[in-house]
Amino acid sequence: MEVILCPITGFCSGVRAALNRTTDMLKQHGPPVFILHDLVHNESVVNDLLSRGAKIVDEPEGLPPGATLIFSAHGVSEAVEARARALPLNIVDATCPLVRKVQERGAELSKEGHVVLLFGKAGHREVEGILGRIHGEKHLLTNEEDARAFRPVPGRTYACISQTTMNSDVITEMTAILREKIPGLVESASVCRATLERQNAVRKLAAKCDLVLVAGSAHSSNTRRLCEIAAGQGARAELVSGPEDVTPDLLRGAKCVGVTSGASAPDDLVHGILDAVKRIAATEQAQKL
Ligand code: SF4
Repeated sequence: MEVILCPITGFCSGVRAALNRTTDMLKQHGPPVFILHDLVHNESVVNDLLSRGAKIVDEPEGLPPGATLIFSAHGVSEAVEARARALPLNIVDATCPLVRKVQERGAELSKEGHVVLLFGKAGHREVEGILGRIHGEKHLLTNEEDARAFRPVPGRTYACISQTTMNSDVITEMTAILREKIPGLVESASVCRATLERQNAVRKLAAKCDLVLVAGSAHSSNTRRLCEIAAGQGARAELVSGPEDVTPDLLRGAKCVGVTSGASAPDDLVHGILDAVKRIAATEQAQKL
């Protein structure tokens, strides 16, 4: 069995920066440090933060005066930010700059008078944060079907933007569908560079492998997109949350196994999974001899 590690794995810059800021706050102020929702969508990362004294909260209200409250890499809506800043808290904004850019672009397009069409996943924190920065008319379109069903109003102008971790192929398709029915559509939908690089890398990896293991959490949008893309290339794609998920049954029949990860999976998790695959491959090889 051949085993290939994807050249791009581990934390993206936004996740790394959010984790570093949280670690700095824990060092500076000591525990507890409060985080509004999960800092990133990865259980092992969140559990590590909890073990070091971070606490996850769902609302900014009810924290002790002077407490440190961190906004996650996914960002928050304007209303949530205003509520938090009105309280006697030390606010640390760890919103990824690339998410912030989409929030600002959405607000700007709306101010210019366009109806904003956001491509993204309903209920995702990043999506809620972006929608909550757009004051004018906006619509969330989750997939190609939504784009096909969308009916523009004559006389209005439209602009599209997207969640940073969508499948780039889906964005291309949705934009093409809307372009057909909306003359002058302002096309600003794209994934962030980290997502694009990971998606391109998994496409190449899946073309060489019959099984692709994607390290990460089922709650992570970018991780699930990598699974979809690998499966779209014809490989069997499995999301694995740790080395314990890697079993001989999972690898059965695979001649070439690729290992990659979502942007919120730590390097040690990826290498733990890679080692587990190699151990099973070595045992199978030894049994054949
Ligand atoms: S996936 Fe992209 S937008 Fe999201 S945190 Fe990472 S770098 Fe930022």
